Amino acid sequence: MICSSMNYSTAAEASRFTGSLLAAACGDCLGAVYEGYSGTDLAEAYYDGRFEVGSLTMGEWTDDTAMLIATAQSIAEFGRVDGEDLARRYLAWFEAGGRGIGRATYHAMKRLQSGTAWERAGEHGEYAAGNGVAMRIAPVGLLHAGRLEGLREDVRTCGVITHRNEEALDGAYAVAYAVALAAVGELDPETILLQILDQLQPSRVSDALSECAHLLEAQEPPLAALPQLSLGGAAFETVPTAFYCFLRRPESVREALVSSIVAGGDTDTRACIAGAISGAYNGSGRIPPRWRREVPHREGIEGLGAILHRAVRDQHL
Ligand SMILES: [Mg+2]
Repeated sequence: MICSSMNYSTAAEASRFTGSLLAAACGDCLGAVYEGYSGTDLAEAYYDGRFEVGSLTMGEWTDDTAMLIATAQSIAEFGRVDGEDLARRYLAWFEAGGRGIGRATYHAMKRLQSGTAWERAGEHGEYAAGNGVAMRIAPVGLLHAGRLEGLREDVRTCGVITHRNEEALDGAYAVAYAVALAAVGELDPETILLQILDQLQPSRVSDALSECAHLLEAQEPPLAALPQLSLGGAAFETVPTAFYCFLRRPESVREALVSSIVAGGDTDTRACIAGAISGAYNGSGRIPPRWRREVPHREGIEGLGAILHRAVRDQHL
């Protein structure tokens, strides 16, 4: 047990729930503009300390926020992870256009459309080792805030709808675990990677999270460290780089998102995941005000964070 249920209901905790969803959306909307970006202007400004929040343009939601919000809505309504309802919501998003959809998720949605059961819809094999579960998993972590029993199973239930791949699920578990601790103020930046590594089987995900810990210890700057961890869209690339961007300056939502973006590669998903963890750790009040103002559908996301917090809190009482 991480904390007693009695001290659960506080405004600070509600702000961590809202902060996780909102900072994830900010990361996606900012990162989407710079996905695949390899220019040097932003990176130079970042290194010189001339970087300003306003120099990043905010775009629209992509698949990351859409599927994260669908996950949060389902959990808020049911008070648990319901695979069938999640699959229904993901499919509804896909049929409405599915902006930014990843390859494994696309094939899973096609299978759902043709009547395959959600437990068997997910893509498997190497092509399913992507970050598509990690990007949407934060609400499952919030459901388990301060109550880690069953977290692994719930990550799997949410994940297999699109990705039947152990690396995709391990990467998602690492994110959900960090969010579950951060949401109750129990994430220790000094030990979180070791805690996660203790629970993972050896894989490219665990190898890269170990490497992430070494790079943090060596105080490697982001633009040197992140390419060493690899900038692509596999779970073993995106999840460790997102942890790096959060853990280098855990108290700064701004730094988590900006360092996620200036490195290039899969910026929207990296910034979305780093935002989900950083927002849960810091609370919504520490998201830069300009981003909080500009993120599309801010009020809806804040309302959903509050509903989700109440639903989870009621289960703890
Ligand atoms: Mg995306």
